[in-house]
Amino acid sequence: MADPQQLRCRECGAVYAAGPIYVCEKCFGPLEAIYDYEALARQPLRRVIESGPPSIWRYEPLLPVNRVPEIDLSPGFTPLMRAARLGRALGLSSLYIKNDTMNPTWSFKDRVVAVAMAAALRFEYEVAACASTGNLANAVAAHAARAGLRACVFIPKGLEQGKILATAAYRPTLVEVEGTYDDVNRLCAEIAEEYRWAFVNVNLRPYYSEGGKTLGFEVAEQLGWRAPDHIVVPIASGSLLVKIHKGLSELVKVGLLDGVSTRVHGAQAAGCAPVAAAFAEHSEEIRPVKPNTIARSLAIGTPADGRYVLRVTRETGGVIAAATDEEIVAGIHLLAETEGIFTETAGGVTIAVLRALAERGTFGRDEVVVAYVTGQGLKTLEAVASTVAAPVAIRPTLRDFERHVLDLVAAPRDQVHA
Ligand SMILES: *Cc1c(COP(=O)(O)O)cnc(C)c1O
Ligand SMILES: [Zn+2]
Repeated sequence: MADPQQLRCRECGAVYAAGPIYVCEKCFGPLEAIYDYEALARQPLRRVIESGPPSIWRYEPLLPVNRVPEIDLSPGFTPLMRAARLGRALGLSSLYIKNDTMNPTWSFKDRVVAVAMAAALRFEYEVAACASTGNLANAVAAHAARAGLRACVFIPKGLEQGKILATAAYRPTLVEVEGTYDDVNRLCAEIAEEYRWAFVNVNLRPYYSEGGKTLGFEVAEQLGWRAPDHIVVPIASGSLLVKIHKGLSELVKVGLLDGVSTRVHGAQAAGCAPVAAAFAEHSEEIRPVKPNTIARSLAIGTPADGRYVLRVTRETGGVIAAATDEEIVAGIHLLAETEGIFTETAGGVTIAVLRALAERGTFGRDEVVVAYVTGQGLKTLEAVASTVAAPVAIRPTLRDFERHVLDLVAAPRDQVHA
């Protein structure tokens, strides 16, 4: 399949030749890749996809770059897991977890970076870079290593050790900036003006963001080519939420789904909830906030795609809600205890909001609900450190075992697990 040759402005429709450009010269709107959906609808697309690799690249015809086999880390095609125990706890009979902790660098960011990295090669960059809340730096460092590019990744001060060390392992140039993510992002936009570097989420954003569509494609395919009734998606810049919905809509355009009536719900941390606030106030305008939350991967105070998030959630009949730090930690434990999946704080946000919406009666009992769990718990161990029990310490004797352990194991688990 040929690489799409053109980009179009989301706001005014102006068309540009494909390249490392990201804002419309006429109106400063964001640019997006153009696809020929009618031509795609005439192809045996379902067969092409189903016989493709078990990664995001099975959807290559609907991505803005081709797979480059030599640099592929094979992100995506992660499990869609039926969540019967968590569903029972929340009163839902058809709940699924999209387990995107199972990616090469343990978060959904591998999807967007894989697409951006293929674009970086196509446009012959030598340095890959990003402004990151943590997971993006990790993914860029890994993919750049695999692609043989230099990496320079920028993070705000105060990130979790797990994210810093997991990123540093690939030996990128790792830069900690005094300030918030929004400061980091502003700096990176300035650097991108001066230096010809592939900032995956700045000048390559039209390519990067399209990778998020694969989280829509996969869920539809894994449900047997049908769209869920509800999805719950965490919001940082808002790109992921918008692109999952775009992915589902594209499957209708190419004839792989009959229709989509999915209600798209957004999840933010209460300590950084500018989109949830605008939603609650029925406002179009997103007021910047200064983040203060344990969900650092979602801590963006000026979300670039916030306006589009509001549009998608409102048009689909979804809601945007926020979770406190306490609820986030409870969400992490609830998912771990009921389903055996350990998520980072962003996943805790998703589960906390899923729970709140279930309690509000947003979902019908038998509707198909998919919650997106986008990152791995080992990266944010700090979040659970004070809410887990220390190991029971014993001497290596049967007597100690019987005295200190047996009763603990025999005790009934609480009703969540019944
Ligand atoms: C980046 C990130 C998101 C959300 O990303 P958007 O900027 O909204 O596209 C969600 N979960 C995790 C774990 C992330 O790292
Ligand atoms: Zn424009």
